[in-house]
Amino acid sequence: MQDQTLYGAQMMQPGLTAADSEENTLRPQRLEDYIGQEKVKQNLKVYLEAARRRGEPMDHVLLYGPPGLGKTTLAGIIANEMGVQIRITSGPAIEKPGDLAALLTNLQEGDVLFIDEIHRLSRQVEEVLYPALEDYALDIIIGKGPSAQSIRINLPRFTLVGATTRAGQLTGPLRDRFGVLLKLELYSPDELARIISRSAGILDQPITPEGALELAKRSRGTPRVANRFLKRVRDFATVLGDGVIDRDVCLMALRRMDVDALGLDELDRSLLRAIIEMYGGGPVGLETLAAALGEEAVTLEDLCEPYLMQMGFLTRTPRGRCVTHLAYEHLGMRPPESDDGADSGQQTMF
Ligand code: ADP
Repeated sequence: MQDQTLYGAQMMQPGLTAADSEENTLRPQRLEDYIGQEKVKQNLKVYLEAARRRGEPMDHVLLYGPPGLGKTTLAGIIANEMGVQIRITSGPAIEKPGDLAALLTNLQEGDVLFIDEIHRLSRQVEEVLYPALEDYALDIIIGKGPSAQSIRINLPRFTLVGATTRAGQLTGPLRDRFGVLLKLELYSPDELARIISRSAGILDQPITPEGALELAKRSRGTPRVANRFLKRVRDFATVLGDGVIDRDVCLMALRRMDVDALGLDELDRSLLRAIIEMYGGGPVGLETLAAALGEEAVTLEDLCEPYLMQMGFLTRTPRGRCVTHLAYEHLGMRPPESDDGADSGQQTMF
């Protein structure tokens, strides 16, 4: 494992990549710098203040929502606001109960332990986590057979912040042990424009308000996408423009990156087109669709679908995915006359 200094606090993150550390420079460090998610922020402020006044660690927090919406960032902010260290790991990285025991026994009083993709913890590891969350204790079995003994080790009081893209896949017992559940929503174009302007400021990159809004409208409601576009458009502005990101540079760069007026990329459009051309507009099961596109089902489900559904292009029904009239229109295709896509898919179903 690698120690990284982020947020001014120590973070431990297995497999931290260069892209991650670049992302870290853009992460807000305090709650007041975290843009959007007003409801989440207002409630979190109260929970943090209450914990501080009581001199206790904050209750365990579960953050859920699509990738890139700011879950890791928020975990760092919780640690900063509480003035403690954060340790970062992820569900798949904790392979054995011993890995978790090592992490927990190395925590200091009050620390935040952030587990990304917490729905991917194994059952065995989860069982070790329960007493740690409830009683700040580890139960360890020593020996085998009839002479086996269970001993209890006390742990420092800590806050677990778990993040998941799919709260539904968490086991009931694990979900019940979180005192605070916070759902992150896709961001509005105005909020994303503020995030883009803030990031441009950090990167020392001039950008016009119109340029920021144009990027924001195509960022699929997701700050990570917004920041990525900002960096790529900056390249176009530097090489092909006068260094300033304005609306014209954005339009040119996004066209060259195959991002359309609503922020759909090639994968989104192939998904919609596959449902229309291969499955008559749907319904079609996610796995079938993934196989047809040569993609992982989770990629489609986590990265494409939340935004396509929010835009009203796609619906999920018990029998599978369907496209709507809007999707046909957006792709410049004619909806079938007798069969109007998702709408009729649902009508015939119910
Ligand atoms: P997640 O953990 O949900 O996948 P991250 O916390 O890694 O998402 O956020 C991705 C990027 O988006 C980070 O670089 C961060 O700077 C930026 N970001 C996320 N949420 C916000 C926000 N509310 N305000 C400003 N920037 C944000």
